[in-house]
Amino acid sequence: MVETVKTQCPYCGVGCGLEASPPAQPGRAVNRDKDGIPIWGIRGDRNHQSSLGQVCVKGATIGEVIHRNRLKHPMMRESLDQPLRQVSWDEALDAIANQIRHTLATQGPNGVAMYGSGQFQTEDYYTAQKLLKGCLGTNNFDANSRLCMSSAVAGYAKSLGSDGPPCAYEDLDLTDCAFLIGTNTAECHPIIFNRLRKNHKKNGQTKLIVVDPRATDTSKFADLHLQIQPGTDIDLMNGIAHLLVKWGKLDQTFITNHTTGFEQVQEIVTSYTPDKVAERCGITAAEVELAAQYWGESDRVLSMWSMGMNQSSEGTAKVRTLINLHLMTGQIGKPGAGPFSLTGQPNAMGGREAGGLAHLLPGYRFVANAQHRQAVEEFWRLPAGRISDKPGLTVWDMVEAMETGNLGIFWVAATNPAVSLPDIDRVKAALRKSPFTVYQESYFPTEMVEFAHVLLPASQWSEKAGMMTNSERRVTYCPQFRTPAGESRADWTVFAEVGRRLGFVREFAFNNSAEVYAEFVRLTRGQLCDQSGLSHNLVASIGAVQWPAPRGKIPDPMKTTRLYLDRQFPTPDGKARFAAYHSRGLAEPPDGEFPFVLTTGRLYGHWHTQSRTGRIDKIVKMHPNPFVEIHPKSAEKMGIVEGDLLEVRSRRGAGRFPAMITKRISPGTVFVPMHWGALWADQSEANAMTHELACPESKQPELKACAVNITLV
Ligand code: SF4
Repeated sequence: MVETVKTQCPYCGVGCGLEASPPAQPGRAVNRDKDGIPIWGIRGDRNHQSSLGQVCVKGATIGEVIHRNRLKHPMMRESLDQPLRQVSWDEALDAIANQIRHTLATQGPNGVAMYGSGQFQTEDYYTAQKLLKGCLGTNNFDANSRLCMSSAVAGYAKSLGSDGPPCAYEDLDLTDCAFLIGTNTAECHPIIFNRLRKNHKKNGQTKLIVVDPRATDTSKFADLHLQIQPGTDIDLMNGIAHLLVKWGKLDQTFITNHTTGFEQVQEIVTSYTPDKVAERCGITAAEVELAAQYWGESDRVLSMWSMGMNQSSEGTAKVRTLINLHLMTGQIGKPGAGPFSLTGQPNAMGGREAGGLAHLLPGYRFVANAQHRQAVEEFWRLPAGRISDKPGLTVWDMVEAMETGNLGIFWVAATNPAVSLPDIDRVKAALRKSPFTVYQESYFPTEMVEFAHVLLPASQWSEKAGMMTNSERRVTYCPQFRTPAGESRADWTVFAEVGRRLGFVREFAFNNSAEVYAEFVRLTRGQLCDQSGLSHNLVASIGAVQWPAPRGKIPDPMKTTRLYLDRQFPTPDGKARFAAYHSRGLAEPPDGEFPFVLTTGRLYGHWHTQSRTGRIDKIVKMHPNPFVEIHPKSAEKMGIVEGDLLEVRSRRGAGRFPAMITKRISPGTVFVPMHWGALWADQSEANAMTHELACPESKQPELKACAVNITLV
């Protein structure tokens, strides 16, 4: 009989440990879904140190949905106006290999592009990097982490010398001041919030500061909720820095011994007086002072952030300005403190480790760094110069390349850009121009199907074995315990098979995903994200562990690791870097024609574009339809009553949503959830309105804010 298996939740970056038990248990009725299909039971794994047995509604219901609406066979068509027809894997893979050959011959390597996902396991990511960046010589691999985490990646790398969150979840128990900015943790990372809340409730002296233009389930527990205007985060943080300098609440020894560039920050924050900051942010000077007081008086300050900071045209500047606060107060490299970015996808962290963005190579290396390219080329036994020295196309660059006919093949896997990208009507028009789009996906239908020439069925979590890394750098082995749906295959096997068809037989001579992981971890040896001591077998037997995990020194799964405890940073001189920024504000501020700021976001129960959660009754009951939140004052002025259908229009497009009148949102701002694509609700796509303008450093689009007007339909 199959026993209970341990794995990681495949939804969000909290990465909770799960236990899955087979449908049939001795002495019990077979566990079945509402249609009578036997399903695995899911509960939290008490021994997983990231989550200690807790799960939210998404993780708890994953067993009910993993088998529904599955894509089971490869399909193809020659043009998008034809119906898709079922084909064999051979026919589909040959067609892809032929199109890659044709593109290489006519457009060169940069005509090939792949857009992947933080839903990938590390083995999927790694194999895709080897295929595109190594074998084909193009860095055109980007992932949906571009929409989620790339500002955090850039901020960490520029300020601390490397990507990699320094903190651990244990810091949630130990901090005495949590500074949550641009994160609705209670809804989007609920198990992390539960743990922080427990500390906050138990220890009267622990302070919780929440910075968010919306009142949320997170802010309702805050000691101080700073309901700032969208786009004024840097003003606020520079204002806090101003007061810390003025009050002498600095760690001068840390600044002198472990950082460079403080003078520029000190100079720039001089003008950020509480009155000025309060006026720009739309809060009071007393609130700015109280936030600075909490920072300055606390022994252990832990900041956390997510999309509210990252999805911004100045995302990297925001992240670095936040890190400045930690560096000037020495609040890093010690328990209970540090700048902690919360990852969106379950394995976005593993993706970053495997080089899964257009400017990265495996092992936290960069394509622009000649030594890094050489190390990877030698490891892959490729000719010198094979890896391009130019960062590849980001996903938005790929959209533009399709518009101008510069892509011969666009390969999308495990993500749904026909809902999640900004300016979605423009994206759909670009997708219609693509001469050859491969869509590798587990679910059917999704909004992307309309744009696919080749559909490949991908095995899901639980149907393949691989590794995932969560937000606190904990690596969990996720075993296969269910039979793959239909003819579906693991993503990495598809990339490897196409590689072999293109002649890279030696490069993809993997027999299983354990061998892929074994190769990947050798490439991390000596890097910050060293996992060379890990293997499928080891982690399966001892349990999930945090990296660094170098060969010969395996961390204890019960113990916590943190980065920079020695206060040495992976920069040439071992010092962290301050960065001085003034705020540039929103890329598209409101004006007379478009007087509201639209902000978009997530709801507790749903996951992204709903390919799973939209099919769970309990979650659909929680969040039955899209809506637009509008403040009572704005509603009254416009004669809007609860439930009225409103058209929300930007310079790019419009959507229609029932009005939800609430003081959660400030006057002048409206909120729409991002989960509803064209398949789920008519004309209710949040991204019909958003724009693509992005942070110049991280290339992450400002999905969090655009200018709109509102009319009663
Ligand atoms: Fe899964 Fe995230 Fe919920 Fe944990 S918090 S159970 S990882 S969705």
